[in-house]
Amino acid sequence: MLDVYDILPFDNPDGGVWKQGFDITYNENEWDSEPLQVFVVPHSHNDPGWLKTFDDYFRDQTQHILNNMVIKLQEDNRRKFMWSEISYFSKWWDGIDSQKKDAVKRLIKDGQFEIVTGGWVMPDEASPHYFALIDQLIEGHQWLEKNLGVKPKSGWAIDPFGHSPTMAYLLKRTGFSNMLIQRVHYSVKKHFSAQKTLEFFWRQNWDLGSSTDILCHMMPFYSYDVPHTCGPDPKICCQFDFKRLPGGRVSCPWRVPPEAIHAGNVQHRAWMILDQYRKKSKLFRTKVLLAPLGDDFRYAESSEWDQQYQNYQKLFDYMNSHPEWHVKAQFGTLSDYFEALRKESNLGEKSSDSFFPVLSGDFFTYADRDHHYWSGYFTSRPFYKRLDRVLESYLRAAEILYSLALVQSSKSEMMSVFPSVNNYKLLTEARRNLGLFQHHDAITGTSKDWVVVDYGTRLFHSIMNLKKVIIDSAHILILKDKAAYNYDTSTPFLKMDDVQSSQDSLPRKTVIKLTSQPRHLLIYNPTEQERFSVVSVNVNSPRVKLLSPLGKPVTVQISAVWDGATTISHEAYQVSFVAHLPPLGLGVYQLLEVQSSEAVLADYNIYMRNTRQEKPDRLFKIKEMQNSVDNIILENSYMKLWFSGMSGLLEKINTKEDGKNHQMKVEFAWYGTTSNRDKSGAYLFLPDGDAKPYIFTDPPTIRVAHGRIFSEIVCFFHHVTHTMRLYKVQGLEGQSLEVSNIVDIRGEYNRELAMRISSDINSQNRFYTDLNGYQIQPRLTMSKLPLQANIYPMTTMAYIQDVGVRLTLHSAQSLGVASLKNGQLEVIMDRRLMQDDNRGLGQGVQDNKITANNFRLLLERR
Ligand SMILES: [Zn+2]
Repeated sequence: MLDVYDILPFDNPDGGVWKQGFDITYNENEWDSEPLQVFVVPHSHNDPGWLKTFDDYFRDQTQHILNNMVIKLQEDNRRKFMWSEISYFSKWWDGIDSQKKDAVKRLIKDGQFEIVTGGWVMPDEASPHYFALIDQLIEGHQWLEKNLGVKPKSGWAIDPFGHSPTMAYLLKRTGFSNMLIQRVHYSVKKHFSAQKTLEFFWRQNWDLGSSTDILCHMMPFYSYDVPHTCGPDPKICCQFDFKRLPGGRVSCPWRVPPEAIHAGNVQHRAWMILDQYRKKSKLFRTKVLLAPLGDDFRYAESSEWDQQYQNYQKLFDYMNSHPEWHVKAQFGTLSDYFEALRKESNLGEKSSDSFFPVLSGDFFTYADRDHHYWSGYFTSRPFYKRLDRVLESYLRAAEILYSLALVQSSKSEMMSVFPSVNNYKLLTEARRNLGLFQHHDAITGTSKDWVVVDYGTRLFHSIMNLKKVIIDSAHILILKDKAAYNYDTSTPFLKMDDVQSSQDSLPRKTVIKLTSQPRHLLIYNPTEQERFSVVSVNVNSPRVKLLSPLGKPVTVQISAVWDGATTISHEAYQVSFVAHLPPLGLGVYQLLEVQSSEAVLADYNIYMRNTRQEKPDRLFKIKEMQNSVDNIILENSYMKLWFSGMSGLLEKINTKEDGKNHQMKVEFAWYGTTSNRDKSGAYLFLPDGDAKPYIFTDPPTIRVAHGRIFSEIVCFFHHVTHTMRLYKVQGLEGQSLEVSNIVDIRGEYNRELAMRISSDINSQNRFYTDLNGYQIQPRLTMSKLPLQANIYPMTTMAYIQDVGVRLTLHSAQSLGVASLKNGQLEVIMDRRLMQDDNRGLGQGVQDNKITANNFRLLLERR
């Protein structure tokens, strides 16, 4: 794909009736020797939440669509239909009688009804981590296997805002042979159409053979609705969307309505649509044609089924009874189409013949028209993009611990009271809530405010439930004397060390009350590597002793817990230490209060302008740095860091291994939105030029902590509390810098806040971003593209490099990222937009929260 981007001019000439394409011509006799095979594929796109919540859509539309499906498909066995979102399908299934269930099974067996993809949702492909992509796919497929005995074989993704090869890989490994994608940059579509490469084998970047190849069909036109799927001319195709017959609720914006088909007009109408089919088929290599027939929440009313199926059947009957037209038209499912395509192109089920080209790379960043790039949604509603990943981490921990606990509990009678069934229900519900959130209007941040709250509440409840699963499971696993096991719901054996009070608030650490009697601190390592990792907990006393699982004293750092920038809380103290844990292991540490502690207190320098600390703290050493502008230095055995004494922001890194200095300037910057009619919204990023530096009239208060386990610098800007922490430990944790930004732009008007890192790394216009935390995709920043086109999704990391070093920004949440200048990396952290961007949402993004963006910055020698 990088080669394709190199060739394309990204101009946007008027292509005539196919605005973003070109004139298509054909010879009358092209099909004489081999007829055109047309598969009209009825479908209904059901978003699991967007303008309405999942439940409201189900109640108002989806249940009726599926109910009518059962009736209307049985009326004529030539009719076909397909479905992809199992979140909806399973909900519907739970409410229907066995007679209906049998009918559905029959329709599937007879090939009239097909499940495509079969995931819990049709996921976004930019923001989700592969853990969640797999989770939602398994959840759907397991449901299908258990309830219908069905295994889908073709992928159908008509609405995600750009496409990732990770999805192609997962479908391939699931056993799929075919897939379809739709939202691809209009210039790419035009180029592929001209080259007849809309059907290709999608191959992974790393694959030197062909084992990852999957046959992919890219839809050629602007949209998946009927006007843009029968052929190049939407004015004609719209006349074959019979839901838009005069008198109905929807009409054709091209102002020529459909006509019901009857004996008097069938010849002319059949000829009109055949002309579109023929033109469309000229963009492909075979004489098999796919013509999808559907739209959002279509086929809800019984009359709509009659309108579409009866009129199309008349057209088919007419075409098929005129052999001189050389066409065979029929209803089909996606797999009907792919089967015919493979037969026609002599593709065996396994071989990737040279008939279709091979392509590697991805389809970001999507533009549907003009300079309307969908790079805003990479960041929209970042609070929930973070919450998603928090849920994922709890889910993984809970699944492993539950599995181990289940094995334990089956070993003795005593432990049979372990609530395995109830906890399994909570696990399933969490998987489904996580799965639901991968939907292309959920994690993307592109649904209505109250739908966002619905998703957030589901994520939040599942986090609480998973904590319960973790507690119940860990309980059974840590007992030395399993005979002592006693399950009591009212008094949980363990408690978690943080609480989140509502779906839209950040978690807070709980304060552990210490006495001279040891309290057990249980730490779990959910990774399959041995780990040495810094753990921090809050306690109510600074006189702390910590014992390791072997009973040995552990070095701890006591830090102050702060109320705001400069006030120390005496309710709580933070204990930090290096925990050592085996892979997937639990460690039981002991914490107790002692008379005289050997714990080392952190000490503080506070840089304030104009104000003064009232009185010295009775415990911590705090030095006030009035009007100091000297550089601030943090240091460990790997590196030395220089921060500006004015802003507190990082400026330079010295790597001790080679003694080299590296410029590493951290800044914040604002983007505004254009003054044109089309402005940034939930989907689109339409900036008013380059970002403007974040200007502060009063320098921020800066708080610097020096400790034995870590040192850190915290800068209190008006819109962001920026922390950089340096761990004084061996290994990766000590080699990287922990970066945390607590962002609050609730008072702003059409602004987006970015963090930018400018280095002296000679990266030129090349940088790298991950896709779904699964693979790395090289990127080229191109001056022929507008700024917003050079923003890419970052799920877990982005990096720049030159011959000497590599700088990686690891991210704990999905956000939009760019490298707009040599040596730069920047990440958009939150966006507040006062208007809709005309993609159907009908609102701006103004429900901003106090949001945590967490990162690690790693500078490596190459
Ligand atoms: Zn959709």
